[in-house]
Amino acid sequence: MAVTVGDIRTALDAAYPPHLAHSWDRVGLICGDPNEEVTHVSVALDCTDAVADAAIAAGSQMLVVHHPLLLRGVSTVAADTPKGRIVHKLIRAGVALFAAHTNADAARPGVNDVLAELLGVTPGAPLGPQNVDKLDLWAVKVPLADAEAVREAMFTAGAGELGDYSECSFSYPGEGRFRPSTDANPHLGERGELEHVDELKIELVAPKSRRAAVRDALIAAHPYEEPAYDIIESAVDAVPAEEQLGIGRIGELDEPMPFRDFVARVGERLPKTEWGVRGAGDPERIIRRVAVSSGSGDSFLDAATAAGVDAFVSSDLRHHPVDEALRAGAPCIVDTAHWASEFPWCGACADLITRETGVTADVLTIRTDPWTVAAGATYRQEQS
Ligand SMILES: [Zn+2]
Repeated sequence: MAVTVGDIRTALDAAYPPHLAHSWDRVGLICGDPNEEVTHVSVALDCTDAVADAAIAAGSQMLVVHHPLLLRGVSTVAADTPKGRIVHKLIRAGVALFAAHTNADAARPGVNDVLAELLGVTPGAPLGPQNVDKLDLWAVKVPLADAEAVREAMFTAGAGELGDYSECSFSYPGEGRFRPSTDANPHLGERGELEHVDELKIELVAPKSRRAAVRDALIAAHPYEEPAYDIIESAVDAVPAEEQLGIGRIGELDEPMPFRDFVARVGERLPKTEWGVRGAGDPERIIRRVAVSSGSGDSFLDAATAAGVDAFVSSDLRHHPVDEALRAGAPCIVDTAHWASEFPWCGACADLITRETGVTADVLTIRTDPWTVAAGATYRQEQS
């Protein structure tokens, strides 16, 4: 069976769910026909002219990128505009264009996991958790004879999971009392008569995201016309912090080292760029815990400080935010080229496409970092 643009889109949406994208972001299929066949995919960080040309030359029918080509409102894709020229080129050559952006940053495994692992950092909790599911605390009162059926139904709907444990519940016996009205159709007792029933109160937890399913299961399995149950929203996260989705990752460095050496490691392990990487903070500070945020990470300086890490790695960092953060107790900071912090994800994305769809996918190795010349990095040598 031929694999289509739509099939690749389905695989990418499953790995990088579009609902994880920020509200300002525009992810998904930018141009192309979901019904057309794909036998080869190219992956890159940006869709520049050179990248589009390379995807066509590679014989690809689909180009997958990280940065959306059309992020802000567009009123023309005329071929004599920079972006319109690319759109025309791709459509004429039969190449679909797809972007997975902040959804790929937030997903697991995603752009931030690739960056963390490349630097020797365990990809733990996100710096900016998203869509954190909380646990609901459920309590339901059931006649003894029906307790097992109700419990089972709620488990099947997603209740009773605690870490590595399933079918978790707590029960205690009590006496249920009720008087059915003349309009009622009671499972037990008579209309107008006060009824006493031996019941079990069953308590269990379920993710808030499963609330509707658990309620439906409870009501379907419960023998009463009006089942009595409580749902209490808790402050407890349904999944541990290190499994939550969101931008950035906080984790442990595989071996402690002075900041000077850590900056050198970042420079060695990231793809090479013209001006490399730079660090801010005490060169001798021992780095054990690290936060990373792929791409522009200015907005996560406070979160990195609050996380209590020794170093924060990100890109596009500016003088004033960094200077102010350092004076407010920020960790050591590493500033990399934006392209360098995110490009390593392209390989993981290509692997994912091949694994999930069987279609071959290659990374276009064109360096789309806009910086092409560096000079003046001799201050330290002159000082010593
Ligand atoms: Zn980016």
